[in-house]
Parts: sequence; C-alpha cells; structure tokens
Amino acid sequence: MSKITTKVAIIGAGVSGLKAAEVLLNEPHSPFQPDDIVIVEAQDRIGGRIKTDTTKSKLGISYDLGAAWFHDTLTNQVLKDAVANNYFDVKNDTYYDDKDIQIYDRNGLIDVSGLKINRVVEDLEKYIELHYHEELDTEDISLQDIVKQFVQQYEFMLTPEQIDYSTRIMRYLELWYGISWDKISGKYSIMDHQGRNLLNKRGYYFIIENLLKLVKDIRILTKQPIVKIDRNNKETSKPICIESSTGLKIYSDYLLVTVPQSILQLPAAHPYGLTWNPPLPKSIQDALSTIHFGALGKVIFEFDDVWWDESQDRFEILADDNQVNLSATITSPPKPFTYPAYIINFASVHNKPSLVILTQSPLTDYLEKNPEQAWNYYKPMLATLAHKGKIPTEPINVITTDWTQNPYIRGAYAAVETGDDPSELIIQLSGEFDGCGLSSSHIRFAGEHTIMDGAGCVHGAYNSGIREAKWILQDVKPRPRL
Ligand SMILES: Cc1cc2nc3c(=O)[nH]c(=O)nc-3n(C[C@H](O)[C@H](O)[C@H](O)COP(=O)(O)OP(=O)(O)OC[C@H]3O[C@@H](n4cnc5c(N)ncnc54)[C@H](O)[C@@H]3O)c2cc1C
Repeated sequence: MSKITTKVAIIGAGVSGLKAAEVLLNEPHSPFQPDDIVIVEAQDRIGGRIKTDTTKSKLGISYDLGAAWFHDTLTNQVLKDAVANNYFDVKNDTYYDDKDIQIYDRNGLIDVSGLKINRVVEDLEKYIELHYHEELDTEDISLQDIVKQFVQQYEFMLTPEQIDYSTRIMRYLELWYGISWDKISGKYSIMDHQGRNLLNKRGYYFIIENLLKLVKDIRILTKQPIVKIDRNNKETSKPICIESSTGLKIYSDYLLVTVPQSILQLPAAHPYGLTWNPPLPKSIQDALSTIHFGALGKVIFEFDDVWWDESQDRFEILADDNQVNLSATITSPPKPFTYPAYIINFASVHNKPSLVILTQSPLTDYLEKNPEQAWNYYKPMLATLAHKGKIPTEPINVITTDWTQNPYIRGAYAAVETGDDPSELIIQLSGEFDGCGLSSSHIRFAGEHTIMDGAGCVHGAYNSGIREAKWILQDVKPRPRL
C-alpha cells in the first residue's frame, strides 16, 4: 500500500480542482511549493465534465461532449482570463449562435413571428417570475403545471395557436436543466442571465490544457478513485487521510473535495460512494437531499450533405402536446416527438454537415445506454427540417455522450426539481457562508454545485476553485502573536 504525505490534497481533476491548485501554487506570496499539493482523480483522464473529442468525427470537427458555451459572457471569469492572458482568440475561436431560433413541430416550420408567439412566451416567463416574486412562500409547482395555470388565467387574451405553441415552446427549459418539465421547479425555472451565450468553436479543453501548463509540477494521480475520507486521522501528524480503492493513502493538512454532487449524494455503501469518518455533519447530509442532478446529453449526427437550412444557427422541434409520464425511466424505444429537440446547426458554426442535439433526462439516460436508437428517435423529427425540396439523408456518423453511464459523473449538473431548494447545499458547502460544517477540519468543497453565480457552469466551477484556494491561503497564514 503506498502512502503520500502532503499539505493540500484535492479530490477531482476537473476545472474547479485544477483552478484551485493553480491559485494555491501561483498566487503571489503563496507558501506552497508543487510538492505540497496533490490532485487525485478517479478516471484515467483529466478534465471531468470538460471533454473535447477529436477522434469520433468523420468531418474533422472537435466536439465538446461536455461544456461547449461560455454562459453569462458579461461576467464570465474564464472568458476574461483567457482573453487577458492571450490564450484564446475570441474572434476566431467563438461563435454567437443566437440568431432567432427557428421552431418546428411535426407539421413543419411555425410562423413564430407572424403569430406573435415569442411575445406570449415572454409573458409566460414574466408570469412565472411574478407568481413567485409576489409571495415568496408560494407553493412550488412544476414548470408544466405553472404553464397550464397561466393558460387557464389568460386564455381569453390568446389565440388557440399562441396557446398551443407557446406552451410547448416552454419545454426548451428542459435543455437547460437536463430534466423533463413535469419535474422542473416552476419557482426556479426562469434564469437570470448575465450576458449572452457564446459557443466555443475551438473546444473547451484548451482551458484544461492551459491550467495543466500552470500546474505542471504538481502531482496529478489518475485512476485513483477515493473511497474513504478520514478527518480524524491518528496514524500520522496530518489530521486528514483519504484512501483510494487501490489502497493509496494520502495524508494532508487541507482537503478540497470537488467530486460532482451526484457522488456526494451516493450512500457510503454504494460502490462509488464516499465513506466519511466521522460521517458528514447532518446539516450537509440534509442539504444533499434538497437538490437533484440533471442529465443533459448530446447526440451528434454527421451527414454527407446539408439538407436543412444552413443559414440558421439553431432549431427547436416541439414535442406533441399531451405527453404523459415524461420523467419515468424509458425502457423501450420512445415515440418520436415525445421530448422536444434543441439542435445546434454546425453547418452554420463550422460550415460542415453536422447537427448537434441536446437531450434531457430520461431520454439522455436511454440514448446513452442505447446509442443505436438515437437515429430511430430523431429521424422523423429531423425530417421536418428538410429545406427547399431537399431530401433528408441517413447520417454517416452518430456520436452520443455517456455522462449518465460514467460512474464518476452520473449525469450532467445540479438541477432544481419541484420542491427543491437551490441555495441550501451551496450554503452548506460554500466558503462564502459560515455554514460549511467542515471548515474547522480544514475540509472544503468546490465545484459547480457549490456556488450561486455560475451554478452548473464551467465559470461557476472555476470561481469556486479560486474561492477555496483563497480560503486555504488565508487560513494557512501564520496568525499574528497576541
Ligand atoms: C453535457 C454537458 C454539457 C454542458 N454544457 C455546459 C456549457 O455549455 N457551459 C458551461 O459553462 N457548462 C456546461 N456544463 C457544465 C460544466 O461542464 C461543469 O459545470 C463543470 O465542468 C464542472 O466542473 P467541476 O470541477 O465542478 O466538476 P468535474 O469536471 O466533474 O470534476 C470533478 C472530478 O471528480 C472526479 N471524481 C469523481 N468521483 C471521484 C472519486 N471518488 N475520487 C476521485 N475523483 C473523483 C471526476 O472524475 C471529475 O473528473 C455541461 C455539462 C455537461 C455534462
């Protein structure tokens, strides 16, 4: 059994863990040397939910199977740092894919502008905001139910087409949260963005590559899934001991835990769960049950030619109305038009015949388990996009993500279901508040699930890494003598 002794151990080599290591090492006057920091990663690769694949495309495209957009671009620190340090050429490496989206249903293109549907969608979103804003204690109901409530109240002011299309369009939020609208919390469904979304054309992995350069002398141990965290270690003078499934033990003064929320939520007895000794404080355990984990996924179809409208950035193909049991586990091939499709047109992004489709749970789980079913599901839906008499062709290549099947990720990111509280876990895990029940043990948490601004996103994870590195740097400073 091998043993390592260090000052700071970091579990997880995703963006939050790497950024924390980088700040710990490179902050001016940092007391830490490369030997003082060890990162342990369960998988055989680094980057976590940032994964740019250059091997699967037959068209020479690098696909981001995880994060692809810079969200909140007015405040996004990842983007700001990349530009300031000159390792990202915004002009050439990005694309604002936010031309007005074209919306279809099984009958073809919908005249969204002519029917004034977007104005009704705006009203619907405002209605939801006002409904919860006026009375904070208002009971949370699902997005699906609050949309129905809006229609009941305002039907007299709307045309039948506006009701039909605007309500189905609201399911676009399924592709933000990665869950179906019968589960999405109505109360927290409408997001407040700080700027547009910018598609990263180059591949997000450049961030990981850059961080790796900056921490090149730090030890990063892959294929070391941590299974046990002892915060009361008596074997050595170091108070913390983490142990991997291979028997490696790492003793440290500080520990930063960046595993996804889905891993923290597993019981200790689960093969991929963590055993805490002593167990996690009850406040953290309780908070872990107040939020869910969504499953956004991607299906990519590559073709010989473009047979859709190549001048458009994105398409949404609406599901049929009156779907039931949307969130139940799918066990047999689902009927097309059950879940809406949100499609990025890579013919406009990369000038190549490729469509990238975002998927939501439980469809993601099903298609990631049964990738051979992806074309059967989407074929009739995509046929509605056929443009100017062109005939849809069969794909020459199908690529699907596998996040739900990856035991160290188990989905996509934090998602708020009806009745959840998106702030409780952040309060418990985040260094921004005093609530973190493990600070006195020098155990801290970072990751997309531990931060309010940028929750679920790369920039949130990145900022949480900075936050925790600064906490450790502050804490390790010698105290002035009284
Ligand atoms: C399909 C998809 C699309 C997305 N799109 C976007 C987007 O467009 N824009 C955006 O900003 N964000 C997006 N995100 C979210 C973004 O990718 C994440 O928020 C961010 O990468 C999370 O970083 P992290 O450091 O918190 O976690 P991770 O990157 O998951 O790092 C945690 C690491 O912990 C490791 N680990 C787990 N268990 C153990 C263990 N027991 N022992 C040791 N290591 C362990 C994991 O293997 C992982 O490498 C997307 C995510 C997905 C899945």
